[in-house]
Amino acid sequence: MTPYDVIVIGAGIVGSAIARDLAGQRLSVALLDARADVGDGTSKANTAILHTGFDATPGTLESAMVRRGYALLSEYAFHTGIPIERTGAILVAWDDEQLAALPALRDKARANGYDHCEIVDAATVYAQVPDLGDGVLGGLTVPGESIICTWTVNLALATDAVNRGAALHTGHRVTAIEVGTDATTLHTSAGPVRGRWIVNAAGLGADHVDALFGHERFTVTPRRGELIVYDKLARPLVNRIVLPVPTARGKGVLVSPTIYGNVMLGPTSEDIEDRSATGTTEHGLEFLLEKGRRLLPRLLDEEVTATYTGLRAAIDHGDFLIEPDAAQRYLLVGGIRSTGLTAGMAIAEHVHGVLAEAGLPLRARTDLPAPPVMPNLGEAFIRPYQDADRIAADPQYGSIVCFCERVTVGELRDACRSVIPPAGLEGLRRRTRVMNGRCQGFFCGAEVQDILEREGAGR
Ligand SMILES: Cc1cc2nc3c(=O)[nH]c(=O)nc-3n(C[C@H](O)[C@H](O)[C@H](O)COP(=O)(O)OP(=O)(O)OC[C@H]3O[C@@H](n4cnc5c(N)ncnc54)[C@H](O)[C@@H]3O)c2cc1C
Repeated sequence: MTPYDVIVIGAGIVGSAIARDLAGQRLSVALLDARADVGDGTSKANTAILHTGFDATPGTLESAMVRRGYALLSEYAFHTGIPIERTGAILVAWDDEQLAALPALRDKARANGYDHCEIVDAATVYAQVPDLGDGVLGGLTVPGESIICTWTVNLALATDAVNRGAALHTGHRVTAIEVGTDATTLHTSAGPVRGRWIVNAAGLGADHVDALFGHERFTVTPRRGELIVYDKLARPLVNRIVLPVPTARGKGVLVSPTIYGNVMLGPTSEDIEDRSATGTTEHGLEFLLEKGRRLLPRLLDEEVTATYTGLRAAIDHGDFLIEPDAAQRYLLVGGIRSTGLTAGMAIAEHVHGVLAEAGLPLRARTDLPAPPVMPNLGEAFIRPYQDADRIAADPQYGSIVCFCERVTVGELRDACRSVIPPAGLEGLRRRTRVMNGRCQGFFCGAEVQDILEREGAGR
């Protein structure tokens, strides 16, 4: 078995970005994941905000990666059609202590290279978000914070990697590792795969993979974040991201529009042990409702469309942990906790430099394909059912299957025939928004399943 030059473990946003970058070099690259589909880990369940990095800890690698990632992903989104809405954010102070913290937050933003924050009075905050609860004392504007589609980011990066020649191996859980003189053998649930260099971007599993290389440098603690998604009728209540004053435990509970036209409340922040506990809890949702009642009381009158949970890969280390082990031709990319969606492309750029220094020979290709143009899932932009010319050219774009989210037969067909077809209904949901609305697939689920089977995807 000829070894790949590089194998990237983990097809989330971070691993996909790294595989895409390395496939831009004269290297044979494999992207490998335990799951049946790409983007099925933490990258599918976050708050989907493209962060400016205004509140990062200055001087950390995370601060640099978020800032650079914001620029890289904004540019990439422009070329690939990943939907972004530049809503901006307002950070709200509800008591004197929080109000007193605002100047330091503005200074921190400056130290992070972000100069656009402005302290505003309560009247300005209410003018921007009139339905906020009583008691606002002031705020800090963050005009660059934006909402984005995390699913499309992951899929675009993985598709780009495959278009550039990377081999995608899904359903390959790494269970044992043998480091040889010329190549390393990864023993996986689907058989062995060999690579000269290995990059570990396994998210919640990164410490376990690291231990298979004989290291004991960190432990991942899943930090559960639960969220509530409200119906599209709630959307007029918030036209920007409403943030709390951050605490030592993280960014806190926010209210935000979503790129799909809903409103989101969350996330919680709770350290747990079970790395597979992606269900919501009664206490988590109660906590969010209590917060929501104070933040935006009218939101609680709106209907809930869905709830979900994401697990941040928190580690016992204050920063991203990106460390090479040149002797084993191995690189750890760990602890990408709560900003990896934004930072992913910058992490890939950084990894490129670290690997070159560690001895991986890099020579840029000059024959790269154009980046993929992704289907638009953003509510603020034209979707196929609204596009008369497109429907005239192909009537399947006028044939709606999911009436809640207005997803057409043409889009489902395209997703099933795409470079990385969905592995099942959940994957089709992330590629099209199908079954994502009020009825959660109650009305269209059988027809969607039928299309998936007819198109031969999801096997
Ligand atoms: C509640 C919440 C809110 C967040 N909000 C934001 C936000 O607004 N903006 C932002 O920028 N970031 C946000 N984040 C952070 C962001 O989602 C993550 O940093 C990012 O998704 C991490 O990507 P990843 O590729 O490292 O991990 P993952 O997406 O988890 O990918 C890791 C992959 O590795 C695979 N894997 C694990 N072990 C093995 C193994 N042994 N063999 C093979 N494969 C393996 C997994 O199957 C998985 O697919 C949030 C996170 C959470 C949980």
